Amino acid sequence: MFESLVPENIATLTAYPPGKPLEELERELGITGAIKLASNENPLGPSPLALKAIHTHLASLNRYPDSGAYYLKARLSRHLGIRSEQLILGNGSDEILELIVRTFLQPGEEVLSFAPSFLMYGILTQGAGGIFRPLPLKDFRVDLPALIQALTPCSKIIILNNPNNPTGTAFYRTEWEDFLKALPPGVIVVLDEAYIDFVKSPEVPSGLEYLDEQLPLIGLRTFSKAYGLAGLRVGYGYGPSELLDYLNRMRQPFNVNSLAQVAARSALDDQDFLQRTRQLVWDGLAYLGQELDRLGIAYLPTHANFLLIRIDRDSQEFYQRMLREGVIIRAMSSYNLPEYIRVNAGLPEENSRFLQAFKKVMGFTV
Ligand SMILES: *Cc1c(COP(=O)(O)O)cnc(C)c1O
Repeated sequence: MFESLVPENIATLTAYPPGKPLEELERELGITGAIKLASNENPLGPSPLALKAIHTHLASLNRYPDSGAYYLKARLSRHLGIRSEQLILGNGSDEILELIVRTFLQPGEEVLSFAPSFLMYGILTQGAGGIFRPLPLKDFRVDLPALIQALTPCSKIIILNNPNNPTGTAFYRTEWEDFLKALPPGVIVVLDEAYIDFVKSPEVPSGLEYLDEQLPLIGLRTFSKAYGLAGLRVGYGYGPSELLDYLNRMRQPFNVNSLAQVAARSALDDQDFLQRTRQLVWDGLAYLGQELDRLGIAYLPTHANFLLIRIDRDSQEFYQRMLREGVIIRAMSSYNLPEYIRVNAGLPEENSRFLQAFKKVMGFTV
């Protein structure tokens, strides 16, 4: 009825596929104790220090948040060894990505990225009226030389995800440095490092080392994964202060709520929790990998907190059957990988639960 009111770029958008809430699955199946390994969340919960800070802050909820996030920025700037002006905070790092495309893209300009990668890149670009041009991964890896070749005069922003969701693959320091050398002026590089905290290999570069007031590079990080604060929505970007100043002009003054601000500060102080999280994830991935090897199931080696697993059958149907076992995973059909699933490392008992259900649904008898 209202089609004529809607711009073409909005009418043709596909919404981000929502994950199924645990409570809803349990209600539908009439069960308890279902597990969710679908959204790469922290299985340990939030950091206890962050929870304590939230409790302490509850009585001040009548106040607006600090619009400049002074204390969180100061804490982050100390943590990262950069200036406060080189930081911007968002209601999740997704919001910063949205600010970037809305601030810098003009009609007819394009965003180059890769596919399969995070679905929000295409959605936000199209929503901002830009052209989203994802290149194919090569052997499931980001192909930086191909990206340089693909640049046109319309290319304005490059979005890279390292490690990449949903493959877990990463590009290495030499590839990255060659790419930076070949990069022409006039292109902004966004480096989404949502999974950087899980990286073990020193060969995977941290964008932070390349922060430079002369280089149009914006790094994005989040408290949603390793720091266990996905529900509060807080992430940050780092980059040249001049570029971030433009983003700041577009930003809503109270975009990061006050509980998120105090929780993120305390989460940064809780390095013990971060270390426990990383160890749990690494142990969990090793266990899952070893069991999948035993079953002869193919999966990609990962630098993140999840595995992309090849199941050689329809992933939607597989997902539905896993649901009936009380296990929520991510079917990769919306990522154009119809015969793959993505599963994040959980608690030890969740990992075994997953494997038990996996074997049953795959028809293994062992
Ligand atoms: C989870 C994730 C994020 C984090 O988004 P938030 O908005 O900070 O929760 C960003 N990028 C990728 C690729 C992710 O998988």
